[in-house]
Amino acid sequence: MRLVIIGAGFAGMYAALSAARLRDIRGASPEELEIALIAPDPRLVIRPRLYEPKPETLTAPLLEVLEAIDVVYVQGSAETVDTKSRTVEIATAKGAKKNLSYDRLVVATGSRLFRPNIPGLAEHGFSVDQLNDAMALDRHLHSLADRPAKNGRDTVVVAGGGFTGIEAATEMPARLRAILGKDARPRVIIVDRNSAIAPDMGEGPRPLIEEALRKLGVEGRFGVGVAELDKSGVTLSNGERIECGTVIWAAGMRAAPLTTQIPAERDNFGRLLVDRDLRVLSVPGVFATGDAARAACDDVGNYALMSCQHATRMGAFAGNNAAAELLGVPTMPYHQKAYVTCLDLGEAGALFTRGWDRKVEMVGDEAKKTKREINTVWIYPPRAERAAALASADPERVTDL
Ligand SMILES: Cc1cc2nc3c(=O)[nH]c(=O)nc-3n(C[C@H](O)[C@H](O)[C@H](O)COP(=O)(O)OP(=O)(O)OC[C@H]3O[C@@H](n4cnc5c(N)ncnc54)[C@H](O)[C@@H]3O)c2cc1C
Repeated sequence: MRLVIIGAGFAGMYAALSAARLRDIRGASPEELEIALIAPDPRLVIRPRLYEPKPETLTAPLLEVLEAIDVVYVQGSAETVDTKSRTVEIATAKGAKKNLSYDRLVVATGSRLFRPNIPGLAEHGFSVDQLNDAMALDRHLHSLADRPAKNGRDTVVVAGGGFTGIEAATEMPARLRAILGKDARPRVIIVDRNSAIAPDMGEGPRPLIEEALRKLGVEGRFGVGVAELDKSGVTLSNGERIECGTVIWAAGMRAAPLTTQIPAERDNFGRLLVDRDLRVLSVPGVFATGDAARAACDDVGNYALMSCQHATRMGAFAGNNAAAELLGVPTMPYHQKAYVTCLDLGEAGALFTRGWDRKVEMVGDEAKKTKREINTVWIYPPRAERAAALASADPERVTDL
């Protein structure tokens, strides 16, 4: 029997760990139940940190952990999934193709930034979405030092005033000063079509976010969008022109394209609809998890968000349940009651909220300490030691905040 997991993000990593944990508990051997993980690169990209400097350092190795728990790593990108013959076609880095059959499949392919068809965006827009994007932005910011300090060189426009846009924007003044020196005059402007900053964060945290932005001198343009980008700046939908050296696109996410290969219903974000065990509805043998799945967290109408916090726990349930079906043991319905957010606000600290109504629990330096702990410890893979790695993946205990 073979369980195949596609994707080595937070969800894929925990799907592999929890499937291996259940196999171990049930006393099945790796020959009886093979667990294979397909990904282009055997590293976990720490996506939640990609707005930080030195993005090339923001990965963690996975190969040793996978070896320690007898999970087979298959290098490549899954190109097609045939759910009738239960086969995945993989393109390898060397240009070869190979097929891998499965008895159960876990789709953990994550998400990507949605880039609308706006003139100039593809040529002039940067992002902090994937590792390559963050590295390209970092190279660009360093290249600004070779330009004269005029014509908006030190100005950054961030399109999108949600979680990612705020974290990228509030980090920029310090990053620009570090690169351009003390004479730099960083100007950061958030542009959002919504009428206020952080539309999803609600009324409670908003004044605190606005105060942090004021403190850092970050400006806002709300109720307008970016209509066009060119090499010297942006034009907004109300006609305003902003000369700037950098544009960061941070507006909207979509499930990765592989989800379109699964003949099932998807939501507006392209996420596959799943049942409480994270099985894709009406496609036998296929589970979906993390940012690739739309899953209910509870019985009162809350659904998992595209977040590391949900992806990690959903991964653990999906891997466990896919293995449980093959091992003939009961599955465990996914549930996730606790929900917290920890928003980095650059040199103005951070903001920590708890619950779906986002009750503020910590602000400033105290919240920043927690953010650092989350970003440098909690979200990293477990040690490459078999017992510790397997123990870290008990679905009931993963991200139990
Ligand atoms: C700048 C930024 C800040 C963020 N901040 C936070 C935060 O503070 N808190 C929080 O909870 N979340 C945050 N997030 C969101 C969080 O990073 C995502 O929700 C999380 O990464 C989702 O995990 P995942 O495993 O589902 O997908 P991903 O982490 O996207 O991983 C997907 C994996 O699938 C692989 N893959 C994709 N397609 C294929 C294919 N066809 N074949 C093989 N492999 C494939 C990819 O290579 C990757 O390994 C942030 C995201 C960004 C970009």
